[in-house]
Order: sequence, then C-alpha cells, then structure tokens
Amino acid sequence: MNAATAGPKDHIISLNNIHMTYHGAKGDVVVLQDINLDIEAGEFVCLLGPSGCGKSTLLWIIAGLLLPTDGEAIMDHKPITGPDWDRGVIFQRPSCFPWLNVHDNISFGLKMRHVSREKIEELTAESLKTVGLSDFANYHPYELSGGMKQRAAFARILVNQPRMVLMDEPFGALDALTRKNIQNLAREIWQKTQSTVLLITHDVDEALSLGTRILVMSQRPSKIIKEFRTHFTYEILNGDSKLDHVRYSQGYMEVRDEILIMITGDMDTDTVRMDKDEPVKRQR
Ligand code: ADP
Ligand code: MG
Repeated sequence: MNAATAGPKDHIISLNNIHMTYHGAKGDVVVLQDINLDIEAGEFVCLLGPSGCGKSTLLWIIAGLLLPTDGEAIMDHKPITGPDWDRGVIFQRPSCFPWLNVHDNISFGLKMRHVSREKIEELTAESLKTVGLSDFANYHPYELSGGMKQRAAFARILVNQPRMVLMDEPFGALDALTRKNIQNLAREIWQKTQSTVLLITHDVDEALSLGTRILVMSQRPSKIIKEFRTHFTYEILNGDSKLDHVRYSQGYMEVRDEILIMITGDMDTDTVRMDKDEPVKRQR
C-alpha cells in the first residue's frame, strides 16, 4: 500500500491524543503524553525507545488490556474497550499453558470461541505447519526449547487469524541464531497472512530488517519523536537481496546510523540494548 495515497479509511488503528498517567504508591507517573498514531492495514510497525518510556503501556492500550487516562484508541472505527481475538498479543516470555500439549495450547482459543471441531483441527494443523511444529503437536511446553516455545506462542495467536498482531519484545530472550530464525519466520508469516503488526524491540537491526515503518519514542513523558519508512524487509522478501547483503548496503547503514545517533547519541554498537532487564549494557 502506498502511504502517500492511503486515506483515513485504510487505517486499522488510530490513536488519538493518548495520555497515560499511572497513580503509583510513590505518586503519579506521567508515561505517555499526547500520542497520535495511525496504522494502515498491512503495515509492519516497529517501536523503539528507551527503557521505561512506555512502549509496553502503549501496546497494552492497543491490546485493550489498559484504558488510557485520556484520548482514544480506535480499531476499525470502533473504540478499543477490551481484549479481542482480532488483536493477538505475543510477549517476551512465551505464554503457553504448561498443562496442555502444543496442539491443545494452539486450539484453546478456537475452543473458547466454539469453533466447529473440524475447523479447529484444520486451523490448528495449518498453524502448526506454518511455525514448523507439526511433529511436536503432542509435546508439552516444558519439552520444548525457548525458540520452539515462542513458535508455539506464535501459532496460538495465528490460529485466531487476527487482523492485528502486537508483539512486546518477543525475541529478546532468545539466543542469536534462534532469534534470527524466528525473525525470518515472523517476516514470512507477516507476508503470508497479510496481517498488521506492531513490534516493540530494542534491536535496531531487528526493526530495520522486519519493519516497514519505525517509530522512535522519547524519554518519559513520551512522545513519538521520529518515524522512518523503510523498505529493507521487502527487499529481503522479494529475494532482491539476501539479509546480509541488505544489512551492509549503504542505504541501510545510513538509516541505521541515523536511528542510533538519535537514541544513543552514538553508533559504535551492533545492537543497542536499552531495557533495564537486558544483561548486556552498552559500553560508554
Ligand atoms: P517500557 O515498555 O518502555 O519499558 P513500560 O510501559 O513498561 O515501559 O512502563 C513505563 C513506565 O511506567 C515505567 O516507568 C514503569 O515503571 C511505569 N509503570 C508501568 N506500569 C505501572 C503501574 N501499573 N503502576 C505504576 N507505574 C507503572
Ligand atoms: Mg516494555
């Protein structure tokens, strides 16, 4: 879709003047200040920003898990007032039920929605195949590696065919190789399902190699301070270039440096880790 020609009717999500203040034991914390954002159907939006700036808060508001203090979150012209199957959420820690096997974890949502047995089996098998877990349907989560657990978490969401997928640092806890594989999977699933994605990440390369738009948030009270329209994920998907070639292209380096300078004031690092929970900190 061409962003320049897209009209308001193409917006799947609209955030209008969102403010969020938490009333904590130590007083009020103003987290989000006047966030305005429209997301078009089919976009892969990546959100970067310092730790504690309110990225997860924003995702929770879009998910319908949290109501903003002020302003309105809208999906398909309707206010978001609670969670909905149409918005699937994937967190950093894979959220599978430990007492159910992979098949039953994936089909759980469909059962809750009283989908017919036949359709449940069809959609579950399809989702297992998409994430490469067909041979592990009878395994329990404790028998799976971290990457496989996250694949199962993906399938749990995919099976509901959500229009919007919200991901909160889903690859953050994975080792480098597993992470790369599952990033590739996420890109392919996005292309196959044509869903709309919002991904929170602290990894600029992850954002650049997956997203079609990158949003950078400021320190608290947070605003969106910059956005970049990018095309690298299309280049990788179209087979114009291999991932490694794209990453070393001049255009890629330029955008990467611009983002790094903005969020760190520096660009001497491969992966910027900005979250307090991360074990690796940038060397100053
Ligand atoms: P991010 O995901 O960008 O790291 P969060 O959205 O998790 O940021 O949190 C933003 C800020 O709001 C943090 O300073 C956090 O401590 C604070 N916060 C989050 N949840 C609550 C809450 N329920 N009550 C009070 N403060 C909160
Ligand atoms: Mg967070």
